[in-house]
Amino acid sequence: MEFQLSEKQQNFRIKVRDFAQQEVEPTAAQRDREERFDRVLFDRMGQLGFTGIPWPEEYGGLGADYVSYALAVEQLSQVCASTGVMLSVHTSLAGWSLYRYGTEEQKQKYLRPLSEGKNLGAYSLTENESGSDAGAMRTRAMKEEDGYILNGTKIFVTNAGEADIYVVFAMTDFQKRSKGCSAFIVEKGTPGFHFGKKEKKLGIRSSPTMGIIFDQCRVPKENLLGNEGEGFKIAMTALDGGRIGIAAQAVGIAQGALDACIASLKNRQAAPTKLADMATRIEAARLLTYQAAWRESTGLPYGKQSAFAKLFASDTAMQVTIDAVQMFGDFGYTDDSPVERYFRDAKVTQIYEGTSEIQRLVISRMLLAD
Ligand SMILES: Cc1cc2nc3c(=O)[nH]c(=O)nc-3n(C[C@H](O)[C@H](O)[C@H](O)COP(=O)(O)OP(=O)(O)OC[C@H]3O[C@@H](n4cnc5c(N)ncnc54)[C@H](O)[C@@H]3O)c2cc1C
Repeated sequence: MEFQLSEKQQNFRIKVRDFAQQEVEPTAAQRDREERFDRVLFDRMGQLGFTGIPWPEEYGGLGADYVSYALAVEQLSQVCASTGVMLSVHTSLAGWSLYRYGTEEQKQKYLRPLSEGKNLGAYSLTENESGSDAGAMRTRAMKEEDGYILNGTKIFVTNAGEADIYVVFAMTDFQKRSKGCSAFIVEKGTPGFHFGKKEKKLGIRSSPTMGIIFDQCRVPKENLLGNEGEGFKIAMTALDGGRIGIAAQAVGIAQGALDACIASLKNRQAAPTKLADMATRIEAARLLTYQAAWRESTGLPYGKQSAFAKLFASDTAMQVTIDAVQMFGDFGYTDDSPVERYFRDAKVTQIYEGTSEIQRLVISRMLLAD
């Protein structure tokens, strides 16, 4: 077994950490208060090669591995969880779907600008009546000669409004249930594509979350991603990898909260055993996350491991940030303290890309199938 990051991975982590500390952290609290997305940060990440970490150079990527991608999300989330999820959705949901299922033309047209940081990506599955039960989707894609007409309403789309490219799931055949779902690449600005409600959230406030309304939105047939009927499979397998990103985000949030405790409380009478418990949990979550990322990179199955990582890391982020607020006392309950934001940000890691209950279902189903 090998528990050491390679020299290349270590150097990459330092590069992302420097960027996070110097360019993301200084404005993180303010952007959170103002619920403001900063496109300049994404542009800078594009210049630094962070927007296409695991994709090959022929598609504008860095040609690095999934561990490096997890390291980047972790480092960013350690100072700003909103920036972490922006990169996570962009890479492991939008980018991955295109990389894994796109045709050569689609990869050159859509994945390359995502990798190069010229375009931002989003992934739109959730609807009012279909969250955990994605098969209950109502958005419809009606086939016509040259493409499809999309009608329906999506909710809770991370990066929406700001993103340029959307991987969207819609039903091409309701009779076939989950086998009647298809995936589409939809460009912002396509006639019939409108943005809905912008959510006001408990945490990750500088990450925009909006609904999308499709009203007779015509998508050319070249923008069908994968085959007709493969949408559900694309959505679910993308989430397997996405969960590695969310686990890394949760590890970063927890580490950020622990670091704040150590920095602020070391001269006071803080509970040292609590710090040890926090650090131990974080290390376990980190190892699960890196293991899942490593399996993804080496071509091993990783669905169960990414569910382990997401379940454990998100519970860790929640517990560690609760403890951090407690340790700070009254100050921890104000937005003058660094841990208040971490506490609010942690909660969503137990909800999106499959709630903790759904992770337990995924894991137990795999155990029973084994
Ligand atoms: C900030 C934010 C950003 C998001 N970004 C995106 C995005 O970019 N793209 C996207 O498509 N979606 C996105 N989502 C949606 C997210 O993935 C869903 O919220 C999530 O899948 C849960 O669905 P739901 O909220 O409809 O909850 P529901 O499915 O209604 O579940 C409600 C509760 O019931 C539990 N539950 C449901 N089914 C079961 C079951 N079978 N067994 C046990 N318990 C169950 C759940 O665990 C939960 O506690 C985002 C959500 C948030 C909050």
